Amino acid sequence: MAGKIRNTISESELQQDLQKYRTRAIALGATDAQIITTDMVMIDERVRAKCMYPKCEHFGTSANCPPYSMEPEQTRILVDRFRYAIFYRIKVPTELLAGKRPPEALASQAQFSKTRNQITATLESEAFYDGYYLAVGFSGGSCKGSFCSEKDCSALEPGKGCRFPLLARSSMEAVGMDVYFMATAVDWDIYPLGRAPSDAPHGTLAGIVFIY
Ligand code: SF4
Repeated sequence: MAGKIRNTISESELQQDLQKYRTRAIALGATDAQIITTDMVMIDERVRAKCMYPKCEHFGTSANCPPYSMEPEQTRILVDRFRYAIFYRIKVPTELLAGKRPPEALASQAQFSKTRNQITATLESEAFYDGYYLAVGFSGGSCKGSFCSEKDCSALEPGKGCRFPLLARSSMEAVGMDVYFMATAVDWDIYPLGRAPSDAPHGTLAGIVFIY
């Protein structure tokens, strides 16, 4: 049955629902999922600067990427209006995220990225229909790379919207959230992976859904 919209919710009911979304994230493919309070969400202008220096190939190509995605200051205001979020991660083989990657690695990484977007979209949607109608989620990477690599972003064209409104979201990093810092705050081991090869034990793809 559809969740009735309410003005208030008891703490016990809220905690029950948060546990349900945490379990759901794992059932959908997350390696770990945590219920966090929003004071654990670290927002830092330096994160967004990393989209520009060195400039990401997706910068300015999608409505969900800088400079079109929310500025860190807007993100702070948004996050302040929530109390709880589900923060999750998917562990992936290091070679899918680090160094020069062959086409097979890129294809495999794309599959993991789609799972991440699906988790964010599903939690956001289920929370919405449970009555948490302001729930909002963020993924990682760029939706341009995941969904529209062969096409221009339709959401940047006047009068058109996103081709994948139920899947594509801004990444946590595009709106200034410091995923590395937040991962360490919940005791996840996470490693900086970039263009250099790495012997890190694994890579991490993360996402978050603000519930209430
Ligand atoms: S999924 Fe495609 S159309 Fe939607 S915002 Fe991303 S690039 Fe644009």
